[in-house]
Amino acid sequence: MTNRNDIVSFLDDYLAINQISDKSMNGLQVEGATEITKVALATDAALATYEKASAQHAEMLIVHHGFIWGGIRYITGRNFEHIKYLINNDLNLYAAHLPLDMHPEVGNNALLANMVGLKRIKPFGEYMGTSVGFAGLLPEPMSLAQLETLYSTKLNTTAQTIAFGPDQISSVAIVSGGGASTLGEAIAKGFDCLITGEGSHDKYHEAREGNIHLMYLGHYKTETCGVIALGDKLKEEFPKLETVFIDEPTGY
Ligand SMILES: [Zn+2]
Repeated sequence: MTNRNDIVSFLDDYLAINQISDKSMNGLQVEGATEITKVALATDAALATYEKASAQHAEMLIVHHGFIWGGIRYITGRNFEHIKYLINNDLNLYAAHLPLDMHPEVGNNALLANMVGLKRIKPFGEYMGTSVGFAGLLPEPMSLAQLETLYSTKLNTTAQTIAFGPDQISSVAIVSGGGASTLGEAIAKGFDCLITGEGSHDKYHEAREGNIHLMYLGHYKTETCGVIALGDKLKEEFPKLETVFIDEPTGY
């Protein structure tokens, strides 16, 4: 058994939960059991992931996309269903959104950068006053098709590309999830390709006019590596703890 507060303190500190502004209410969002034997990790807070966590006898679920964003006004409808499920099942819900995008070890973006061996890495992707992503140079220039194959294989995903950049890609910027809003910054800084999860219709012409490649790898697929790595870190820190990753893909 591990005390819940010890896990929460470790996570708050390791992920610098209180130092990063975010729309997500990061940290312990709903309180459950005090003693923990198993921690489940998933990308999204959803009844489907709560049910799988409980079925596997986890007393805590750690997610990237939590349930409370900004605040809750009424405990009715979906709010009620979520809170009722968590409380009835004594399941702690812990969320780490931007802190888990930008973390230098277990963050989604650091892991995505490592997958291609990115060099001369710098923070990138201004969001709410913080850089949440990373950018840098590929070990060797490669074509868009080569880069696409590399990521599709590593993430088991189908990439969607908008190809308006150079034939050989040297520099890339990476922001997991819905990071297409950083396209303007990638163009201004002269990167050859922006890699993110998903985007919006208007990004096509913005990429075309900015002479840049845009690669969408899927919101979900770019944001599972962080929670998986965090689970490994927790096991290292609390050897008695069991961890389990819950895969509940959204197709986005
Ligand atoms: Zn996301």
